[in-house]
Amino acid sequence: MKCLEDRIRQEGEILSDKVLKVDSFLNHQVDAELALEIGREFGRIFGDQPVTKVLTVEASGIQFAMATAIALGVPFIYAKKKKVATLSEGVYSAPVHSFTRQETYQISISHKYLGPRDKVVIVDDFLATGAALLGLVDIVKEAGAELLGVGCVIEKSFQEGRGLLEEKGVRVHSLARIASMSPGEIHFVEDNLT
Ligand code: 5GP
Repeated sequence: MKCLEDRIRQEGEILSDKVLKVDSFLNHQVDAELALEIGREFGRIFGDQPVTKVLTVEASGIQFAMATAIALGVPFIYAKKKKVATLSEGVYSAPVHSFTRQETYQISISHKYLGPRDKVVIVDDFLATGAALLGLVDIVKEAGAELLGVGCVIEKSFQEGRGLLEEKGVRVHSLARIASMSPGEIHFVEDNLT
């Protein structure tokens, strides 16, 4: 998605060869019109399939899951990261190890909102090691629902996430794929093909 790549080039801060900060338009302050356009793009990608639910993990996937859900005309669910009293019974859950935070946490979704009749698209902001998305994939499986595909806003293609998802037969669509980066320099996967 050209306009997304342009924004990453213009405003992305490359903190190391592995971490990209996009707080000015995606992860802290949010460009709402861009978020809606991202949702429309996922809507075009997945719109030919009988999607019933869009899934994400709180918090940074929520605006993209919502925009995608609007485009597809279905509800979205965000997995909760913290144990909450209102979600104590009847949950699907999976452990997720965060490499950026060096901690493992549980994500959970209530049995009430996901089940064997659902056809699911998972959406998230970043695909890095794939841990968060693999946790959601496990939850979809546990629920007996069908996974139609995964949509990521930014994929760091030099990390292992895509490979691990594809090994499980998951169809991955990313709107910007970073082949490599270092402070002051960023290359998208398409760059390497030209
Ligand atoms: P994972 O390693 O599980 O694929 O990434 C989990 C989460 O870590 C992503 O959803 C995203 O919120 C965060 N994350 C991973 N890499 C980056 C990065 O380079 N920049 C930012 N801003 N977040 C990241």
